[in-house]
Amino acid sequence: MADAAAPGRTITLVRQPDRRGIGAFRLGEGAKAQFYAFREIRCEIGGRGFAVHRLGRGVLYHVRVGAPDDPSCECLGFLRWGRCKHVAGLAALVSRGRV
Ligand SMILES: [Zn+2]
Repeated sequence: MADAAAPGRTITLVRQPDRRGIGAFRLGEGAKAQFYAFREIRCEIGGRGFAVHRLGRGVLYHVRVGAPDDPSCECLGFLRWGRCKHVAGLAALVSRGRV
């Protein structure tokens, strides 16, 4: 699945959230791919919040997408640019009704 916001980048839901709410997705970029586990978390300020954990790296990000329309993520890319692949990927899954 291609993400129009980022040419060459794909996101694929590889595991639907299970009974504990833990799922997994794959972010592809060219020939590279990274796998993430995620779990939806309660979000007090609107939108939908996810805890996202890159498998094999131990880094945990909290990502928020949806209304109100100012997403957030804790990764360095988002801090610097105000956008990132985690937000773009989860927003794409949410907009497709996959999560
Ligand atoms: Zn991010």
